[in-house]
Amino acid sequence: MADGEWMKLKNFGPADYIEGQTLKRYMMIGTAVNGQQYAWCREPTDYMLENQCDGCERVHRPHNTRCSMTLGNPSPFVKPVFYSFSNRTESAVQFAVMDIETRRHSLVSRVLLARK
Ligand SMILES: [Zn+2]
Repeated sequence: MADGEWMKLKNFGPADYIEGQTLKRYMMIGTAVNGQQYAWCREPTDYMLENQCDGCERVHRPHNTRCSMTLGNPSPFVKPVFYSFSNRTESAVQFAVMDIETRRHSLVSRVLLARK
């Protein structure tokens, strides 16, 4: 992907999905020609993952009461599936990651998702 395309991502969010276990956040950005979906994927930092931050899109916000880290609880997102970020329930639509384009020194990558 050209550098210019990365520049289009000003702020990650709103997130559409969060993946259980990895706590990666996904923001859908468009449909590819074959019907697969492009998305931005933002990884949690090690700190966020260790502390189970699962309700904040970019960095942990200590007053966010929708976040397991704030509440001091383990994340309920324990299965390796996509959960709705807003509803915090297992998504009826599930995806497989078909391709991933990373950028050095960035927690954000672009992925191609196929519906399962
Ligand atoms: Zn958080």
